[in-house]
Amino acid sequence: MNKKGWYLCYIPVFLSLILISTNVSFAKKMCRVTNIRPWTNPKYTRIVIDIDGKAKFREHRLINPNRFYIDILNTVIDPNLKEHNISINNGLLKRIRAGQNKKDVVRVVLDIDNIDKFKVFSLDDPYRIVIDVWGTPLPATKKKVEETGREKPLTIKEKYARNKSKRRTPKIVIDPGHGGKDAGATGRGGLQEKTVVLDIAKRLKRIMEKEGNYKIVLTREKDVYIQLEQRAFIANEKEADIFISIHTNASRQRGVNGIETYYLSDALSERALETAARENMATRQKINSDVQFILADMKANSKINESIQLASVIHRSLVNKFSRTYSNIKDFGLKGGPFYVLYGADMPSVLIETSFISNPAEEKRLRNKNYREKIAHSIYAGIEDYIMKTTMAYRTE
Ligand SMILES: [Zn+2]
Repeated sequence: MNKKGWYLCYIPVFLSLILISTNVSFAKKMCRVTNIRPWTNPKYTRIVIDIDGKAKFREHRLINPNRFYIDILNTVIDPNLKEHNISINNGLLKRIRAGQNKKDVVRVVLDIDNIDKFKVFSLDDPYRIVIDVWGTPLPATKKKVEETGREKPLTIKEKYARNKSKRRTPKIVIDPGHGGKDAGATGRGGLQEKTVVLDIAKRLKRIMEKEGNYKIVLTREKDVYIQLEQRAFIANEKEADIFISIHTNASRQRGVNGIETYYLSDALSERALETAARENMATRQKINSDVQFILADMKANSKINESIQLASVIHRSLVNKFSRTYSNIKDFGLKGGPFYVLYGADMPSVLIETSFISNPAEEKRLRNKNYREKIAHSIYAGIEDYIMKTTMAYRTE
C-alpha cells in the first residue's frame, strides 16, 4: 500500500494548495487508521499504528494527568477499527485511546502510569507509526494488577469474601416487643404478640451467631416488662451498630394481613398513626402532641437515612420470601412512624411488623415454628444485605 496510498494521501493537500478554498470533495481520499496493536512486557511496550497510506504526525507530552499523544494528520479512523480504547495496565501505561480529534486528524493518546523514555518513528511497506515506551512499572499498579488479575471491580459479595478475615463483629440489639404485663396484640385464637416475637428474636439471634460474625444482645430474654424508652437506651449503652424491634401487627378488620416495616419519622399517615398508637400504648391525640418532640429527636439522630435503607432491605427480604410461599401476602410497604421505642436510638433502627396476629390465617401460621424460623431467616438476610453494603462489617476500609 505503498506508493498508491502515499499519493492518495497527499492529493487533497496539493489540490487544496492550488485551489485554496475548494478542498471539499476530497475528504474521502484521506488515509485511514486501520489498526492499533500493542505488545507489552513489564519494562517495555511497543504500540504499532497501521495506516493505509503515508501520514504526517505530531507528538505531544502532557502532565496532569500524565499522558502522551500523537496527532496523525490528514487521516480518519477506519470504521472497521475494533478497539478504540485498549487497556494496558502494565505499570507503564494505563491504556491507549484513539479518536477522531478533528475531521482530518486522528489522535492516539497513551495514558501513562510511569515511563522513563519513549520514541516514535514510522516504518514503510506497509506504512505504520511505532511508539516505543520504556519505564519502571509503578509498584502500586503492578500489585493491583496481580491482586485482582482483572480490570473489573470486585462485586460486593467478592469484596466481602475477600475481607472475611478482616471482618469485625457488628453488634446487633434485637428487641422483642412488649413482655410481662404488656402482652401486645392478642389473636382471636388467644396467641399473644409478646410470646411470638420473643421466639422470633431468639431464633434470629441463633441464626445470626451461627451464620455470621455477629454479637447479638436481646433487650429481654424472657417474659418480662421493659419500658419502651429503656429499649433504645440498651441499644445505645451497648453501642449497637443496628437496632431491630420485632412485632406482630393487628387490625380491627380480621381480614387484613401482610408485612409492614417502619423507621422513625414524624409522618402521621392513618396507618402509621394506628400502628404507633397501639405499639406506643398511647392515644392518637397524645401521639399528635408528640410530633414536635419527634422532629427534634430526628434532627439529633443523624442515622435517619441509614434507618430507611435498613428498613428497606429487611422489608424486601420478608416480602420476597413470603410472597413466594403464600398467596395474598399484602405488602404494606415501608413507612415512617412516630414509635417511642425508636426514639433516641443512636444507630440505624427499625420496627418490623412481621404478620397480623389479628388475622386468623396469619395467627395460625405464627403458631408454627417453621414459619417463625422463616421470618427470622428473612430478617437475617435483610440485615446481612445491609451490612454488606456498608463499611460496618470491616475493621478497616
Ligand atoms: Zn407490638
